[in-house]
Amino acid sequence: MNGLMMDRQLLVSSILQHAERQFADTEIVSRETDGSLHRYTYRDAASRSRRLANVLAKLGVTHGSTVGTLAWNNHRHVEAYFAVSGRGAVLHTCNPRLHVEQLVYILNHAEDEVLLFDATFLPLVEAVAPHCPKLRHYVLMSDSHAMPASSALPGLACYETLLEESSDAFVWPEFDERTASTLCYTSGTTGNPKGVLYSHRSTILHSLALSLPDTLSLSAHDCVLPVVPMFHVNAWGIPYAAAINGCKLVLPGPRLDGASLFELMETEGVTCSAGVPTIWLGLAQHMEQSDCRPSTMRRSVVGGSAMPPALIRTFMERFGVEVRHAWGMTETSPLGTQGSLLPKHASLPVDEQLAQRSKQGRAVFGVEICIVDADGNHLPQDGRAMGELMVRGPWIAAAYFKAESPALRDGWFPTGDIATIDPDGFMQITDRAKDVIKSGGEWISSIDLENAVAGHPEVLMAAVIGARHPKWDERPVMLLVRKPGRLLDKDEVLAYLAERVAKWWLPDEVIFLDGLPLGATGKVQKRDLRQQYGGVLLDAAA
Ligand code: AMP
Repeated sequence: MNGLMMDRQLLVSSILQHAERQFADTEIVSRETDGSLHRYTYRDAASRSRRLANVLAKLGVTHGSTVGTLAWNNHRHVEAYFAVSGRGAVLHTCNPRLHVEQLVYILNHAEDEVLLFDATFLPLVEAVAPHCPKLRHYVLMSDSHAMPASSALPGLACYETLLEESSDAFVWPEFDERTASTLCYTSGTTGNPKGVLYSHRSTILHSLALSLPDTLSLSAHDCVLPVVPMFHVNAWGIPYAAAINGCKLVLPGPRLDGASLFELMETEGVTCSAGVPTIWLGLAQHMEQSDCRPSTMRRSVVGGSAMPPALIRTFMERFGVEVRHAWGMTETSPLGTQGSLLPKHASLPVDEQLAQRSKQGRAVFGVEICIVDADGNHLPQDGRAMGELMVRGPWIAAAYFKAESPALRDGWFPTGDIATIDPDGFMQITDRAKDVIKSGGEWISSIDLENAVAGHPEVLMAAVIGARHPKWDERPVMLLVRKPGRLLDKDEVLAYLAERVAKWWLPDEVIFLDGLPLGATGKVQKRDLRQQYGGVLLDAAA
């Protein structure tokens, strides 16, 4: 027997309609490229999104068409989020930090017909355009007075002019909630990027889970600043979740340095934020140097790569900001697990609480996780057994866009991450499968070594790679960036680590660098480091 409840479809447009009805006066503030702040309300965003939906119709965008964006976190990008998906087309957010060839690949693979882009990316769009025959319309997201006098792009249109010429009368269509809403490609360090195609249903369910008290804990009293880019996994779903809950939304545009973020947080009264650890490192450095602390920021969700415990401690103890360590992937929308503590942890000593918080955490409702060995056997959740992390749930990818090979194994998505799960269900990533260091048949966790050294007061950042070794196959080599003006040397690093990790884990070499290579989403590029330093131990042995 079926239930007798209404079969209303979960659609992205319903989020905007709700925000307009319930939170019409709540603000969306965004940093423009010139540094000025643009402010308006959910009422304005809803009206302009309807205008944009009419513009898209005029440009020939129909149900199932794909529309690309190359844009920062700003109000026009929010309008594209709602207008494109809302009218039944697919929003393809492109990462401008991809190599040009990869960008051409994803624009063609997605078959984007229209590209909406910020002025910053005009040269990039001019470079890719000749290689993207399906792109029919180029729309510069700018005011008419800021349009370039000439451009190599055929029929370049001005976003604001198009909106002005359109009506804001538009009725959002209703369709099946399983319809594709957005498309995001993995940043793909090897081979071509792979497309993850979210649905309206997965987007809404994910946004609700993101809002829950142990995750972002959003309400109409919050002011949320997504530092995570809107071109990377839908800014972790925050633009949707903010509108569902009526949060004031603050968008940082292109300015992601510590000083600019801190200023925005203070002037706008930001209460919570989200981003990758490198962003929080920049913010912590700024606050340490200027001897200040946030007055309204209460919590921050950090993920994308491991947040070192020392940095979690700095935020919690020195700056009064609760860090919620989360794990996810493009393929998981991205929220999979989050590390807020359980009541039983409250009585633990502070260091043990920190160790628990540093794990990537427990699965949120809707996501199931398990770990398996190389033969696919399930491993115990004892906090010690290490295996490949598998996930499943209604916002986890079942297949890649237009891919031949299946993405799933026995109904689970294999993440390529190596993890443990403790008896309380807290998952801890030990490594990406390709980053784990295999020394004489034993595994060494590069993340554990990085976390251990990150606690040293003179260390800014560190990455550990497996370098080829004539006897042990691989041994750890540490690439380390010191804080400015510090003289820390190899012996001091090894002595510090010797008190914290097993002796056979100690790196065979410590190399001091001025910086580490960061990829398209702000993560350290270990592949580049391996290419450059993977042979240092062989060179030394020769
Ligand atoms: P992406 O699809 O680019 O967002 O990358 C997803 C990958 O980032 C995951 O498979 C993990 O390897 C890594 N990752 C995400 N969150 C964390 C975290 N909190 N700690 C360690 N690695 C993480």
